[in-house]
Amino acid sequence: MRVIDHFIAGGTAGLSAARTSDVFDPNTGAVQAHVALGDSAVLERAVEAALAAQPAWAATNPQRRARVMFRFKELVEAEMETLAHMLSSEHGKVIADSKGDIQRGLEVVEFACGIPHALKGEYTQGAGPGIDVYSMRQPVGIGAGITPFNFPAMIPLWMSAVAIACGNAFICKPSERDPSVPVRLAELFLEAGLPAGIFQVVQGDKEMVDAILDHPAIGAVSFVGSSDIANYVYQRGAANGKRVQAMGGAKNHGIVMPDADLDQVVKDLAGAAFGSAGERCMALPVVVPVGADTADRLRAKLIPAIEALQVGVSTDPDAHYGPVVTAAHKAKIESWIDRAVEEGSELVVDGRGFVLQGHEQGFFVGPTLLDHVTPQMESYHNEIFGPVLQIVRANDFESALSLASKHQYGNGVAIFTRNGHAAREFAARVNVGMVGINVPIPVPVAYHSFGGWKRSAFGDTNQHGMEGVKFWTKVKTITQRWPDGSVDGGNAFVIPTMA
Ligand code: NAD
Repeated sequence: MRVIDHFIAGGTAGLSAARTSDVFDPNTGAVQAHVALGDSAVLERAVEAALAAQPAWAATNPQRRARVMFRFKELVEAEMETLAHMLSSEHGKVIADSKGDIQRGLEVVEFACGIPHALKGEYTQGAGPGIDVYSMRQPVGIGAGITPFNFPAMIPLWMSAVAIACGNAFICKPSERDPSVPVRLAELFLEAGLPAGIFQVVQGDKEMVDAILDHPAIGAVSFVGSSDIANYVYQRGAANGKRVQAMGGAKNHGIVMPDADLDQVVKDLAGAAFGSAGERCMALPVVVPVGADTADRLRAKLIPAIEALQVGVSTDPDAHYGPVVTAAHKAKIESWIDRAVEEGSELVVDGRGFVLQGHEQGFFVGPTLLDHVTPQMESYHNEIFGPVLQIVRANDFESALSLASKHQYGNGVAIFTRNGHAAREFAARVNVGMVGINVPIPVPVAYHSFGGWKRSAFGDTNQHGMEGVKFWTKVKTITQRWPDGSVDGGNAFVIPTMA
C-alpha cells in the first residue's frame, strides 16, 4: 500500500518507516494509504537541511522572498481542483469546503507577499547627542508547525507563509489523519523557487512532536489542536526555552437576541454548526436564544432547516457536509450525544446511526439538535467537534453574556441582533478572543490575527497578520554613535541616560 512520506531537503525522504499509521477515506471507511511515523532521527535530517539552507534564505532580500510567495500562490491556484480533491479524500469535507480551506491559507500567502513592508523596523534619529536608535526584525531561525486534521491546508499555510517570508526555515508536522496536502505544498514551494530545506514536512505522532519540542535548534513552535495537547506542547516547548504559540479547542456560542432576524440566524446556524460536519474550531455548536419566546420561535425554524440538510460523500456537489474524519471520531461524537441525553437534554433531531446508502462503512453522522442544555452538563462543557447543535436558553442579555464569558473555551462568539448598543456592549465585555456581530464564523482576515482566549490558546501571540510576524521574528535594537572626535562621551562607568 502507498506510504505517505516525509519531505526533507527538497524531496521525499525515502526512509523505511519502522512505524506507520492508517490514512482512511472517510467516505468509504477504507484504508487508502499508510503514513510514515517519524522519530528523532528523521527530524535530525530535516533540521540539518534547514540549518544548511536558512542563513542564505534569511540573507535573501525580503522582496525576493516575497516573489517566491507570489509564484507559490499562482501554482496553488492553478492546482486548486486537484488539491481540493486530495484534501477531501482524506478529511471528508465537501469539495467546496476544501477549496475554502486552501483559499483561506492562500490569503495568508497574499499577506506574506507584503513582508518587505511588515519587516520595516523603527528608527529614532538623535535619541541622544550624536546617537540614533533603530530596530530590526530578524528571523528566529528554524520554526516548526504542528497542525490538526481539520484544516490540513489553511493551518500549515497560516504558519509557514509568515515564517518563511520572515526568513525562517519551517518544518511542518501535519496531522497523521490527513497528511498529504502539506507534502504537495512542499513540492509547489520548491517549484516556486523556494530553496530546498526551507519548507519541509516530517510525518508522525507524539514521538515526532516530542522530538520537535526537545530539539535545541528549533527556536519557535506553533501548534494548533486540542487544548490538553496544546497545553502540553506549550509547557514542554517553553521549558526547553522555545517560543511557543499553542491554539486549543473551542465551543463557540451564538447569542440570539429577541430582535434578531431569525430566518437569517437559521441560515447562518445551518452553515456554522453543521458545515464541515462541525469539525471547525470556529463552528457555532451552542446557540443561546435570549428569552423563552425567542427560543421557541428559533427552535421551530431550526428543526425543518436541520432536517433538510443533505449529508453526502465529499464529492457530492449537493451535500451540505460529508463524513467525519475517522470511525473513532464518529463514535466519540455519538457517545457525546448519548451523554447529553443521559444528562437530561432533549434530543430534538437525532443524527446517531446515520447510514448513507451505498456508503454503509463511511464515517457519517446525521445532524443533531439538542434543547434544554444547561451549563452544568459535561456535554456543554466539552468540545464535541461534530454536527451537533446545542440550545442553551438564557433569560436575559446578562446571562447570555456570562455563559460565553465563563465557558472554559474562548475562541470565538457571535451575537445576532439589530440593536447596535447591545452588540457594542457585548463585544466590549465578552471574555472571548474573536467576536462576530451578525457574523456566525468571525475568522479574522489574513492581515488581522487569529487567536482565542482562555483554554483556546496558550502563549501570547496570535496566528498571521502582524502578530504572526512578531512570533516568527526577534527584535534587535541598535544604539549607534559615530563620534567625530568632538562628541563628549561622558562618564563611561555609569548607566547611560539621555538626560
Ligand atoms: P489533536 O490535538 O488531536 O492533534 C493536533 C496535533 O497534535 C496533530 O499533529 C497530532 O499528531 C498531535 N498530537 C496528537 N496527540 C498528541 C500527543 N499526545 N502529544 C503530542 N502531540 C500530539 O487535534 P485534532 O483532533 O487533529 O484537531 C482538532 C482540534 O483542534 C479541536 O480541538 C479543534 O478545536 C482544534 N483546533 C483549534 C484551532 C484554533 O485555532 N484554536 C483551529 C483548528 C482546530
